[in-house]
Amino acid sequence: MTDGLATDWLARAAELDAADPLAAFTDRFEESPGLVAYFDGNSLGRPVRGTAAELARFVEQEWGTRLIRGWDQAWMRWPEETGDLVAAAALGAAPGQTVVADSTTVLLYKMLRALADGQVADDPARTQIVLDTDNFPTDRYVAEGVAAERGMELVWIEADPASGVSIEQVAQVVGERTAVVLLSHVAYRSGYLADAPAITQLAHQHGALVLWDLCHSAGSVPMALDEWGVDAAVGCTYKYLNGGPGSPAFAYLASRHHGILQQPIQGWMGRRDPFLMAAGYRPAEGIRSLVSGTPPIVGMVPLRLSLEQLAQAGIEAVRAKSLALTELAWQIVESWSPDLGVDIASPRDHAHRGGHITIRRHDFADVNARLWEQGVIPDFRSPDGLRLGLAPLSTSFSEVVTGLQRVRSHLT
Ligand SMILES: *Cc1c(COP(=O)(O)O)cnc(C)c1O
Repeated sequence: MTDGLATDWLARAAELDAADPLAAFTDRFEESPGLVAYFDGNSLGRPVRGTAAELARFVEQEWGTRLIRGWDQAWMRWPEETGDLVAAAALGAAPGQTVVADSTTVLLYKMLRALADGQVADDPARTQIVLDTDNFPTDRYVAEGVAAERGMELVWIEADPASGVSIEQVAQVVGERTAVVLLSHVAYRSGYLADAPAITQLAHQHGALVLWDLCHSAGSVPMALDEWGVDAAVGCTYKYLNGGPGSPAFAYLASRHHGILQQPIQGWMGRRDPFLMAAGYRPAEGIRSLVSGTPPIVGMVPLRLSLEQLAQAGIEAVRAKSLALTELAWQIVESWSPDLGVDIASPRDHAHRGGHITIRRHDFADVNARLWEQGVIPDFRSPDGLRLGLAPLSTSFSEVVTGLQRVRSHLT
């Protein structure tokens, strides 16, 4: 619309790029032909440069050469080893409490059942699972299933889809009947960052355990799971952790619960001495007992590469850039005429902002489709949200401006 304004934003972005200590990382991703601006790193991270070569090397030199010996030589320990890499780079958790295995959904089920069963065994009156209406669908569905299976009750917090679950809302429902509180650290729709340490502490004061879904915060927001006293957490690795489509998820279980809480999918790979093929299930020691079947080794190859990159960049620097990126996007959208009818449906204050912001307008489903054809890739969330997920390692400030100028060009 106004060239003057557009030029200002590009100049501002160029300054921000020049001063960005993580700028060099934007070149460390595989080429994506036709890409103009990628605003969906919160849904599917881009492949780190070298991923294709690393996969080829794995096939030729490990799978192809070691063959079945690979299990004994290395792969058997990958769930715990890769879990420790995730814990160190992204979770603020000491080794030995995290595994990589299964999908987020399956791990959610395993962890929620483990926590709920442990609580009911201690105190049969603790039959409630607290969760919120705007949590990611899979979390709600898994909780419905666990409640039905165990005769438990779901207690719903009505979350505002433009913000998220507040500590006051949790305080209203948590009590002596609460077994588990299940919440997302960063809301998938609004990007609201929950106060995980305070909510965890509050739940504990009432004797409840907390299961955090970290899908939208892992690799984006710094965490200190051990220090916060978190009981359990799960998250996916294909969003900000760039593990690739369907890469396996991670689960964290604080060491104080090991050997006490037991997950329900008793498979041979989580058994003590699996190759004895012995009668009866006896859980392996420590975090290994969270594993059920044969670990998805090939799916961990890109993730292990990308975790090296996150560790090099440092999660604090990632967070600082993340806030600067969403702040720039926020200011650009705010500068648009109110007549365009675009609202921002995300938290304004940085203390409650995760890695993405969502803007709303009635026709964003159509706009999103047209943007994808042009290589500008946000995503659409029903009913009217356009999510701008700005992955700090792969996104430049200039890309934010260019992409938003294209969004603006579709609004009349
Ligand atoms: C992406 C996401 C999931 C995905 O679960 P999958 O089993 O990997 O499909 C779950 N929870 C949240 C909050 C998510 O953002």
